[in-house]
Amino acid sequence: MIKEQIQQLSKNIFNDTVANRRHLHSHPELSFHEVETSAFVAGKLEALGLTYQRMADNGLVALIKGDKPSDQVVALRADMDALPITEANDVSYKSQNVGVMHACGHDAHTSSLLGTAKILTEIKSQFGGTVKLIFQPAEEKLPGGASLMIKEGVLENPKPQAVIGQHVMPLIEAGKVGFRAGKYMASTDELYVTVRGKGGHGAQPQQNIDPVIITAHMLTALQQIISRFADPKSPSVLSFGKVIANGATNVIPNEVYLEGTFRTMDEKWRNEAHIKMKKLAEGLCESMGATCEFNIVRGYPFLINEEKLTASTRGHAEDYLGKENVLDLDIWMAAEDFAYYSQVADSCFYRLGTRNESRGITSSVHTPTFDVEETALELSTGLMAYLAVKQLGN
Ligand SMILES: [Zn+2]
Ligand SMILES: [Zn+2]
Repeated sequence: MIKEQIQQLSKNIFNDTVANRRHLHSHPELSFHEVETSAFVAGKLEALGLTYQRMADNGLVALIKGDKPSDQVVALRADMDALPITEANDVSYKSQNVGVMHACGHDAHTSSLLGTAKILTEIKSQFGGTVKLIFQPAEEKLPGGASLMIKEGVLENPKPQAVIGQHVMPLIEAGKVGFRAGKYMASTDELYVTVRGKGGHGAQPQQNIDPVIITAHMLTALQQIISRFADPKSPSVLSFGKVIANGATNVIPNEVYLEGTFRTMDEKWRNEAHIKMKKLAEGLCESMGATCEFNIVRGYPFLINEEKLTASTRGHAEDYLGKENVLDLDIWMAAEDFAYYSQVADSCFYRLGTRNESRGITSSVHTPTFDVEETALELSTGLMAYLAVKQLGN
């Protein structure tokens, strides 16, 4: 009964949801600069008669209380920021902010949660419990809007028993969603390394300290930390995508500069690996007469979908859109700041399919041709409302 009602409501508001998404898409704002976006969301919440609290500057939190008695609380999260990418799509709702683009679908997440809010306010009399709406800024940039919102108390007063988030996925066909219980996405740390030797003529290595050959050893040795110390049952990735030794055929440079990424799914190992990598790099450089500056910028933690919550949420999703439309997700070694919620509260982060090959909507997130199949928004608004209501025990 409530399911059919939610499905009907999501149909009724579909055009508004698309209009909201297109408005946000054509007015994207970078992380920590979501001023207009935040004002837009605030206006929509006011129109629904909802009060909200500001957090982490541009973030917004609002509560929808069901009329039936219940002290259960579930939080639904959407992120609002865009990326420094120039849009290449030729669409009517193309980005009007040159060099900024909603290329990660956060416009879809935000408009979808606004739609969910609308549905929940309309069926208030039929459920018990409180839905906490979280519109957070700065998912794409360290230290991550989620971490700031948590610091400012987004998970308190009232404290949610569950946090649910969704993210578009262009690998999955629109109309389907994906779930994975347990570890799902990786922690991500950035590595910035400088190896300093002594440059000189390439014909006289004995008079120099060649940072290039030292770096070659270091790169190989660092991979062995992953292969010999990491638990093979838990994924770890170490990749260096930038190595600059700016000498010449006959010039040994003074230094080599490297940038890399370290990803894993275990906080204890993550911390140990930091120490091991730094120690090895510094020791190896020293043994060969060079020095090493090894800087690690800590990124987001790994994302874990709480088993029980994910199982029940998945069950509700199967109920809502049919078992055949709910897929299993593989581990994904990218990072996402929803991970911060998952580290401190029972959380479930699922994927919303937004692919439509027949319309050429297949590009990956973070590319200039990324787009979403908008029919997915009818599903996403209703599904989130249904997941919230069911999770609250209705
Ligand atoms: Zn992204
Ligand atoms: Zn994203």
